[in-house]
Amino acid sequence: MCCTVAKQIRELNNGPRIQKEKETVTKMIEVYCRKQHHHSELCEDCQDLNDYAMKRLSFCQFGEEKSFCSYCPVHCYKPDYRQKIKEVMRFSGPWMLLYHPILAVKHVWQEKIHKG
Ligand SMILES: [Zn+2]
Repeated sequence: MCCTVAKQIRELNNGPRIQKEKETVTKMIEVYCRKQHHHSELCEDCQDLNDYAMKRLSFCQFGEEKSFCSYCPVHCYKPDYRQKIKEVMRFSGPWMLLYHPILAVKHVWQEKIHKG
């Protein structure tokens, strides 16, 4: 697995960009769980997904150079997690505009630049 190798050859990512993305992903999972699973805190499944997403970000081989995962050429998520995170993104995207407009706007803005 690429990620196991990456773990050995480089330090964990901890730059501002990764931090911000971690924060955004966690917020999105929180919104999803609250609305879909009616939990005020993350349920077991969502906690698991969140842990997984955090790990993937920490080990992302692009580090601070990374684009958003949807544009990343390396799909490092396992298929079932990828499916779950996609669902979370699709569901929580619009809610992010309500709850965390600055994070959401930044996300869209950076996506535009990458498409650009
Ligand atoms: Zn949940």
